[in-house]
Amino acid sequence: MAKAVGIDLGTTNSVISVVEGGKPDVVVNSEGARITPSVVAFKGADRLVGNVARRQAALNPQNTFFEIKRFIGRRWEEVSEEANRAPFKVVEGPNNGIRIETTDGLKAPEEISAMILRKMVDDASAKLGYKVTDVVITVPAYFNNTQREATEAAGRIAGLNVLRIINEPTAAALSYGLDKKGNETILVFDLGGGTFDVTVLEIGDGVFEVKSTNGDTHLGGADFDQRIVKWLAESFLEEHKFDLRKDPSALQRLIEASEKAKIDLSAANETTISLPFITFDPETRTPMHLEKRLTRAQFESLIADLLKRVRTPVEQALKDAKLDASKIDEVILVGGSTRVPAVKALVKSLLNKEPNESVNPDEAVALGAAVQAGILSGDSSIGDIVLVDVTPLTLGVEVKGGMIAPMITRNTAIPAKKTETYTTAENNQPGVEINVLQGERPMANDNKSLGRFKLEGIPPMPAGMPQIEVTFDIDANGILHVGAKEKSTGKEASIRIENTTTLSKDEIDRMITEAEQNSEADKVRKVKVEKRNTLDSLRIQAEKQITESANAPQDLKDKVQKLADEAKDAIQADDDSKIEALQTSLETALRELMQAAPQNADGADAGSDAPKTDEDVIDADFKPTN
Ligand code: ADP
Ligand code: MG
Repeated sequence: MAKAVGIDLGTTNSVISVVEGGKPDVVVNSEGARITPSVVAFKGADRLVGNVARRQAALNPQNTFFEIKRFIGRRWEEVSEEANRAPFKVVEGPNNGIRIETTDGLKAPEEISAMILRKMVDDASAKLGYKVTDVVITVPAYFNNTQREATEAAGRIAGLNVLRIINEPTAAALSYGLDKKGNETILVFDLGGGTFDVTVLEIGDGVFEVKSTNGDTHLGGADFDQRIVKWLAESFLEEHKFDLRKDPSALQRLIEASEKAKIDLSAANETTISLPFITFDPETRTPMHLEKRLTRAQFESLIADLLKRVRTPVEQALKDAKLDASKIDEVILVGGSTRVPAVKALVKSLLNKEPNESVNPDEAVALGAAVQAGILSGDSSIGDIVLVDVTPLTLGVEVKGGMIAPMITRNTAIPAKKTETYTTAENNQPGVEINVLQGERPMANDNKSLGRFKLEGIPPMPAGMPQIEVTFDIDANGILHVGAKEKSTGKEASIRIENTTTLSKDEIDRMITEAEQNSEADKVRKVKVEKRNTLDSLRIQAEKQITESANAPQDLKDKVQKLADEAKDAIQADDDSKIEALQTSLETALRELMQAAPQNADGADAGSDAPKTDEDVIDADFKPTN
């Protein structure tokens, strides 16, 4: 029977997991890897997802899309800085939203994310032997309502049934505490590529109760990389009067080298960043090279202010949980960026405790999501588990004087429901407009407006008479639903949400259809590419065999060579019928040649270093330019 799976849709990496026999485990992707880079690339008619996309980024910088999670459910003003530093083009979309410029037109971040989800699920379906449709997707605990809705929409666009959106640190805690018997108060510290979350939980005997959560959705390892990029680019600019950030391909290489240097510095005290042929002198056309040494201490000073930013959320989370740091039994590290020694040291000093590194920082979130998927789909192999999560941010409405009146405060257990009554300010007022806000600041304008709700169709009444009941209902996904009723007449007022950046139902439906069509087209293309690649491997093998078959008859060698040349042309011309025909004729001729040259009996292995998979060929294609 098809099982529900858990997906950690990360800014940098995604992981998919399923419960087997009561225990969650990661499902490897089609390349055999446990982790899939959250990268999508458009290359001609092909759409690449994961490692293949990541590996060709420097050669296709404007059509390789990464860290898309930074843009999902965001308004343009919130991310214009991040948009500007991406090698690909991010533009303002309808309703203040975000669109990504691709060779296939403008795409919403939801659509790009859907492509990642689709690959994760397709690969898992192939591995598990059944079609996966039901999923639990994780989001940073500190994601607001719009970001959650957008993530859920991405799941729907991918054709999935999203059982639940759960918070990443809560999922990590589930995976940490699954076998724990006694009671513990834990703090999950999750620093990934683009977001930072801190969550305090009480766990024990199958009960996972979130006490508080806090974070920063603009802070992660990619920001560390950017500091190195900036440092490298500025020193290059000073020396060579050339800004590498203006050249998308150079910028992409800078980003990759900076991340690598950062990772090196988690283990080593110094590293060298070496980027030969990074660009050409625009005047003399001579190649320019970059070579810089970076020490761990220098790196730590580059990111010092970023590190400082984790302090406030940790302190706030403890305060909201009404706990002193000394009451935390274990500090669980999650996310790749907690491997940075300075991060570990900071956590230790903030909480006065050696951090617990017992969970795999890359996999814990997906494993926990799989447990939740198992629970929601009634998998009886999982013991009794009760999960109580909270809403990360206060929800309220705008009232007189531009203030916010909180309806549901942050860290309220979800699902939660609250009703408040409003009235009119003028006689015979036919409707009222309510601005729904999310955030902690006292003035309405400083918070995120989730939308304006118009309650219309109020019958004529003197001011102050109508009683309009507004209900805020946060579901288990942490997503808000709003209802309204005019009480004195019993009439339900109609509600319209305006100014939201989230996709409309029509848009989502259109994207679902497009994604389905693309997925069909992708399958056809994949078969085509595979045929092309098989023939190409055969051609390489044939050419190798010719050089190794000195004693074979010349006419036979000529015949194989001729077919190999034809294969090359057919591949070049993308001629499907020729590719198909040549496959058989070249194979037959090659076999003949191998038999005619028995002294090269191991010639059968001659093609062993020839490309085997789609991916290898893509790599091989690129080698000459590297
Ligand atoms: P996300 O949840 O955002 O997908 P991950 O938890 O996978 O992110 O963490 C990815 C981040 O961790 C990246 O910025 C990556 O460079 C960083 N990272 C991974 N390994 C290391 C390491 N050994 N040292 C420093 N940073 C690392
Ligand atoms: Mg993560």
